[in-house]
Amino acid sequence: MHEISIAGAIIDAVLDAAGKNNARKVNQVYLEIGELTALNPDQLKFIFETITAGTVAEGAMFDIRVIKLSITCKKCSYNGPIELSEKMHFFVPVIKCPQCDGSDVKIMAGRECCVKKINIS
Ligand SMILES: [Zn+2]
Repeated sequence: MHEISIAGAIIDAVLDAAGKNNARKVNQVYLEIGELTALNPDQLKFIFETITAGTVAEGAMFDIRVIKLSITCKKCSYNGPIELSEKMHFFVPVIKCPQCDGSDVKIMAGRECCVKKINIS
């Protein structure tokens, strides 16, 4: 359940931005969560609803976009998405190129965990 600590950090950032902009209310929060973070969007939303109670972000809508894992292979220069196998369970994901099976790959997307935009009033 690493969702709780990450959700806390995200809400801190949202409240900080809201405070700096003299927001009376946070209406909507847009987030990007990489597939490799193994965060569960439904669980995150639930935690957000709980921890924003009594803040300007109470009742805000959370729009969570999951970013698919995408790599560039240094061997065959494959560039694109790869599927994560279920059995990895994200503990030590072995990421291999789907084209040449090489493991010398660079992760281009899938590690994100950030607030893209917030809508305040
Ligand atoms: Zn390759």
